[in-house]
Amino acid sequence: MKKISILGSTGSIGTQSLEVCEKHGFHVIAVAAHSNIELLEEQARKFKPKYVGIFNEEKYREMKSRLADTDVEILCGMEGLCRIAALEENDIVLNSVVGMVGLLPTLTAINAGKDVALANKETLVAGGAIVTSLAKEKGVKIYPVDSEHSAIFQCLQGNKREQLNKIILTASGGPFYGFTYDQLKNVTKADALKHPNWSMGSKITIDSATLMNKGLEFIEAKWLFDLDPDQIEIVVHRQSVIHSAVEYKDFAVIAQLGVPDMKIPIQYALLYPDRFECPTKPLSLTDYGTLTFGAPDYKTFKCLNAAIEGIRRGGAYPCLINSANEEAVSAFLHDKIKFIQIGEIVSSVLDNFEYTEITDYDDVIEADKAARDYVRQLIS
Ligand code: NDP
Ligand code: MG
Repeated sequence: MKKISILGSTGSIGTQSLEVCEKHGFHVIAVAAHSNIELLEEQARKFKPKYVGIFNEEKYREMKSRLADTDVEILCGMEGLCRIAALEENDIVLNSVVGMVGLLPTLTAINAGKDVALANKETLVAGGAIVTSLAKEKGVKIYPVDSEHSAIFQCLQGNKREQLNKIILTASGGPFYGFTYDQLKNVTKADALKHPNWSMGSKITIDSATLMNKGLEFIEAKWLFDLDPDQIEIVVHRQSVIHSAVEYKDFAVIAQLGVPDMKIPIQYALLYPDRFECPTKPLSLTDYGTLTFGAPDYKTFKCLNAAIEGIRRGGAYPCLINSANEEAVSAFLHDKIKFIQIGEIVSSVLDNFEYTEITDYDDVIEADKAARDYVRQLIS
C-alpha cells in the first residue's frame, strides 16, 4: 500500500487525487489546505490521516477542536506544510496547492528524498532551476500531474530522449479563443471563469482565459523535460482530446489522448509505471468526429508572449512574471482590475526589471516580493 501526503487536498486536483487514492487503496498519511476546515475535517474523518495541515494560522484552533475526538495531529502554517512534505512515512508527496507558495514544500520533500507528484506548476516556473538540480542531486523523481506534461511524459516512455526533436504542447485556447484585443476589453469575471473543457480552481481558470496557463506550462515543460525553448511548439486544439505530443528525429509524432479528466494524469503520476482502470469514462473518438488545430494568437494574449519571452531571457524573469501574474489575477478576481489589464501588467514586467540571477531559494523570494510590490503599486 503506497503512502501519500496531499498538499492542497481541498482543491480541484486535491479532491480528484483523493478519489484516485480511494480507488487504488492508497494510505493517506496527511492532507493539507489553506483554510477550508469543513472539507479538511470531512477528509480527515474519511481517510484517517495521521496529520492535517492548515496553512491559515487563524483557523488552527478551530481545526483542532473539530478533530479533538480523533488522534489526528494538526500542523499549521508553512512549517506544517513542510513537516508534512518531509514525513518519513511518505512514499510520495502530491503537491496541488495553488501558487508559488508551493515551492518551499516541494523543495522540502525533495530534500527529504521523497518523490513528488507535481500539479503545482508555479513551483517549476518560479524555481525550475533549483528544483530540478536538487531533484537530480537527491535522486528524486518528479512525476507531472498537469495533463499536457503527463502526456509528454507518457509519449517519452520507451524512446530515446536524445532522439527527440520537439514537443507539441496543446492548448484549448480558453473561453476567449478567436477574440480580438478590443473584444477582450469587455469580458467579465463570469465570462473568464467559464472554461470550455475543464473544471478547475479559479486561479488556473483565469490563467487559461489569458493563456498565461500555456505560458506557465511552456516553462514547466522546459524544466521537466530539459528542453530548449525552441523545442516547444504550442498548438491550439479546442477539444482537449490530444493532451500533447512528441516528435522524434524520424518525424514520427506520438501523442497521448483521452477524455479531458484530470484523474487520468493524476493516476498515472501516482501509479507510474502501472496502468489500472481509472474512475472516468473512456474516450470515444467518434463522439468527437472532428479534432481541430491552429496557432495561438500571441499578439492578443500578451501573457503567453510574456511568459515565453521570460524563459528565453532566463534568470529571475520567469519568477517575476509568475508572481506578477498571481497578483494581477488576484486583483482581477477581487474586481480591482479589468481582464485586459492582466496581460498588460504581466508583460510590463519585462520592461521594468533588470536581469538578475536565481541561484537559491532566497533569490526566488526576493524576486517574488519585488514583482508583487511592483504590481500592487501599479494598481493602487
Ligand atoms: P484550487 O484553487 O481548486 O485548489 C487549491 C488548493 O490549494 C486548495 O486545497 C487550497 O486550500 C490549497 N492552498 C492554497 N494556498 C495554500 C497554502 N498557502 N497552503 C496550503 N494549501 C493552500 O486549485 P486547483 O486544484 O485547480 O490547482 C492546484 C494547482 O494545480 C495549481 O498550481 C494549478 O495550476 C495546477 N493544475 C490544476 C489543474 C486543474 O485541473 N485544476 C490542471 C493542471 C494543473 P483551500 O481550499 O483551503 O483554499
Ligand atoms: Mg495543463
